[in-house]
Amino acid sequence: MAIQDVLQFGNPFLRESCVKVVDFESPEILKTGADLQDTLHDLQRIHGRGGGLAAPQIGSRLRMVYVNARDRSFHLCNPEIVERSKETFEVWDFCFSAGASFLAQVTRNLRIRVEYQDIAGGKLSEEFEGYFSELLQHEIDHLDGTLFIDRVNKPESFTMVEEWDKQHADQLHNGRSV
Ligand SMILES: [Zn+2]
Repeated sequence: MAIQDVLQFGNPFLRESCVKVVDFESPEILKTGADLQDTLHDLQRIHGRGGGLAAPQIGSRLRMVYVNARDRSFHLCNPEIVERSKETFEVWDFCFSAGASFLAQVTRNLRIRVEYQDIAGGKLSEEFEGYFSELLQHEIDHLDGTLFIDRVNKPESFTMVEEWDKQHADQLHNGRSV
């Protein structure tokens, strides 16, 4: 399909809630699914980081997320977090809708259970831990107009990406979460 422009922080569209995917055979669903894939792959090639993209970031109001990270590539339609572990962890987060230009620390649940549908509408329930847990909490937030900057409780952690790379070069090369 096509690589789409990524909406940037400040665009009011990013603050709106998305609507459920209903007709899994509609051209709109198929186009959004393919565009998410093409756009994320392009962003990963350019920035060398990032593992997911949510539909509102490319101007679609569908509850759809695409993940391409580590050994997995998949779409999540209508994802819902139905359980969260009490255990949390601190992660460095960033967003392609902030030009992937800065990072900040947020607290995420270590494990979550997500109910979602695949791109064909099949229903799934899956537990995610660590990297995929934090990634999906970030992406699913997008579907409700929530951005990671809303979750930052230590504003002093905001770090420009060039500076972060200088300080964390070893972790980045070890495939750390960002
Ligand atoms: Zn994001």
